[in-house]
Amino acid sequence: MEDLLDLEGDETGARGASHVPVLLPVALDQTYDYRAPAHVDLEPGCFVLVPFGPQVRIGVVWDRPVGEGKPVDPRKMKTITERLDVPALPVSSLRFAEWVARYTLGPLGMVVRMMMSAQSAFEPVKPRFGVTSVPDAALPSRMTPERQRALDIAADGLIRSKSALAEEAACTTGVVDGLVKAGCLVEVAIPEKRFAVPLHGHAEVALSPDQAAAAHALRSAIDADAFSVSLLDGVTGSGKTEVYYEAVAHALSKGRQVLILLPEIALTSQFMNRFKARFGAPPAEWHSALSPAERGRTWKAAATGDARCIVGARSALFLPFRDLGLIVIDEEHDPGFKQEDRVHYQGRDMAIVRARIGDAPIVLASATPSIESHVNARTGRYRHLVLPGRYHGAELPEITAIDMRKTPPERGKWLAPPMVEAVNETLAKKQQTLLFLNRRGYAPLTLCRTCGHRIECPQCSAWLVEHRFRGRLNCHHCGFSLPLPKRCPKCEEEDTLVACGPGVERIAEEVAERWPEARTLILSSDLIPGLVEMRAIIKKIEEGEADIIIGTQIVAKGHHFPDLATVGVVDGDLGLAQGADPRAGERTFQLLHQVTGRAGRSFARGRGFVQTHMPDHPVMQAIVASDREAFLNHEILVRQSAMLPPYGRLVALVVSAKHRDVAQGFAREVARRAPAAERIELLGPAEAPIAIIRGRYRWRLLLKAPREIDVQAYIREWLALLPEIKGDIKLTVDIDPYSFL
Ligand code: ADP
Ligand code: ZN
Repeated sequence: MEDLLDLEGDETGARGASHVPVLLPVALDQTYDYRAPAHVDLEPGCFVLVPFGPQVRIGVVWDRPVGEGKPVDPRKMKTITERLDVPALPVSSLRFAEWVARYTLGPLGMVVRMMMSAQSAFEPVKPRFGVTSVPDAALPSRMTPERQRALDIAADGLIRSKSALAEEAACTTGVVDGLVKAGCLVEVAIPEKRFAVPLHGHAEVALSPDQAAAAHALRSAIDADAFSVSLLDGVTGSGKTEVYYEAVAHALSKGRQVLILLPEIALTSQFMNRFKARFGAPPAEWHSALSPAERGRTWKAAATGDARCIVGARSALFLPFRDLGLIVIDEEHDPGFKQEDRVHYQGRDMAIVRARIGDAPIVLASATPSIESHVNARTGRYRHLVLPGRYHGAELPEITAIDMRKTPPERGKWLAPPMVEAVNETLAKKQQTLLFLNRRGYAPLTLCRTCGHRIECPQCSAWLVEHRFRGRLNCHHCGFSLPLPKRCPKCEEEDTLVACGPGVERIAEEVAERWPEARTLILSSDLIPGLVEMRAIIKKIEEGEADIIIGTQIVAKGHHFPDLATVGVVDGDLGLAQGADPRAGERTFQLLHQVTGRAGRSFARGRGFVQTHMPDHPVMQAIVASDREAFLNHEILVRQSAMLPPYGRLVALVVSAKHRDVAQGFAREVARRAPAAERIELLGPAEAPIAIIRGRYRWRLLLKAPREIDVQAYIREWLALLPEIKGDIKLTVDIDPYSFL
């Protein structure tokens, strides 16, 4: 009773307009009340500087108190230092942050931190200066050819940076400085670059009847001004991009903003150029390769509406869109949309939530939609738009399984005779071949011939992977690396170490031996420093500067290689070995389908070859027969009977600690304290398949529940019952996990 009175007193007294709840981007789940300074307008979502402990930090004014913190004593309440001159987060962003936090069980402050991941947007803008000509200025007393060139160029009255003018005039910046001193040029602030406006009608294409029907449905969805999900489903090359561009054009024509999410690796210049060709201007980009200044500029442009269309990786979802009218998720099945650190979220699923909060339609596009999306399409929850064939009428590649038991490669080689034959034929026709192996490096295991020792990572329970190009052994889990040793670390014999199994570098070696004349390129994330270099290599392939491409999964996504005729999958079984992963079959099917689908998109019929030890496996059968429905029916039945997603919910809990006993002990304690619940099944704790990562021992628990159960509420209740997490113990909760290692 007293408490209640207390609270009421607080509500009516201090809690007037004189103070506001502020959310700080830290790992906390609550707002703090701050006194509002007089005469400062503090609308919800605006950014403020506040004293927080000994520091001053940026916070966001929230529109209602969050969390169960005790009300602050008005006498001790601190005052907001100042309001920042940064566009406020729209209220839809506040609701979205709350939703993501509630769903993922990540602290709200950390979700808001993701919404602020553009530091330079919060710093004062430093104006950049350039030079321009002074009309009617007298010529300098001393004229040189350099000076004349610079003045001639500047005569157009444009503003250029000094270095740009110097470069154009082939002189030094000293010459430009001299002209400023002489009063012929003047320094002026360069206006901030604006984003070019994509034009919805710039280069319209005539759609096929199937495309037109799908585009019509998407336009109606936009006109409805309401939330809806459409699954745009069609083989690679069926014209899905062209169809969703129509939707993009329609949303743009209504003055709305558009977000297109792609897997990070698909953000190639190919995509950007195609967008530009269609809309006359490139989209704003959002990905890890942006400079801090570009991040800040794009963030602000999302908030002001200056950026009409943003193409980005999953984190673009957290940009402060002012008026989002359409979201497109291309390659919606891609596991890369799942974020696995800090706030664990599935970008595709959260994008659907974002669309719902903004009453906007969302389009999921894929040649191999996820089982989750298929089920939603089959039950009518999603609109299912199907493009039945390839746009250019080119047939889908013919896929052949190569039975490695019947036609094995020669000793020490990895390409079976039928595969070698296929490459020979392709080379003879001057066409491109892609050899695909989803494994970086040279060999996954290094073994001593004398004592049998296997070289493991000292910090992880994993073998070190040889990277021969770099002459090192690397751990793919923690980044540990050491130079390739000459002697066995155990028995110290010299030259006894042998590489076991292939990685892409080893395939490249075999290719160089077999086809020394062929121009080869390796596409592997560890050999390519970043998106920029990646774009350059893709361009080379596109322009036919390679005969044989050897690549990991980064070749599977979104690229269009016009000369590619033959695709060879070196190890079709690789993905199926991930036993604990309920999506292993789905992922293998998607990957094999996508990779082989790269073949023959723009000319005659391409061919795909899959080396396998399990040609009878349902996934292989479906790939070879190009029978997606058979695979889907099989997989959906499996999911249904095992209560796996989307029929059931999964939550992974991972306990880790520096000592095995501590990790195991705490994992058991976690399990023991699980609240009783009838329909919730708890598996584990069990030692994780990768039992040690970075010197931390890992134990896993997996929770399985029927769809209709509120697992978040259950887990929140459970976490509240746990003993205090002390020392170096860590507990991570992963709702809808995609990783089971
Ligand atoms: P998807 O996104 O399904 O892989 P795309 O949209 O990339 O398919 O289309 C495949 C190819 O067909 C591209 O080269 C594209 O330019 C072309 N294409 C698709 N639709 C049309 C159209 N209506 N008119 C002209 N070319 C088209
Ligand atoms: Zn390691």
